[in-house]
Amino acid sequence: MSVKPTKQRQRILEVIRDAKGHLTAEEVYKRLAIEDHSIGIATVYRNLKYLYDNDLVNRIQHPDFGYVYDSNLNQHYHFHCLSCNRIMDIEDMMHHELNKEVEEKFGGTVHSHMAYFYGICPECLAKQEDN
Ligand SMILES: [Zn+2]
Ligand SMILES: [Zn+2]
Repeated sequence: MSVKPTKQRQRILEVIRDAKGHLTAEEVYKRLAIEDHSIGIATVYRNLKYLYDNDLVNRIQHPDFGYVYDSNLNQHYHFHCLSCNRIMDIEDMMHHELNKEVEEKFGGTVHSHMAYFYGICPECLAKQEDN
């Protein structure tokens, strides 16, 4: 009996890792339901919370879809495409020096920061240019 929850959790983690993007709980559920008809959406929510609480997945807020889950645990900025509505990672762009600047101005200590960029992604830009 005690084996099953761990197994499901492992599968949820694999689904998020395989997606290499940002999935909502419902998207995770839909992908799992194909292979496991016994799984319920509540189980997915519960396990996602566990994975997040234990630093096994990252989550960010999508403006329309609520939380989206991310297997990329490195600190990174995000980009929201206003055309295709996807959230993408911006890799290798962390401006760690900002933490120091904010500390100096604000007077506290800064451990990390996040940034969200909005615009049109390269793929959508290319499509617009084709038309
Ligand atoms: Zn796009
Ligand atoms: Zn991300």
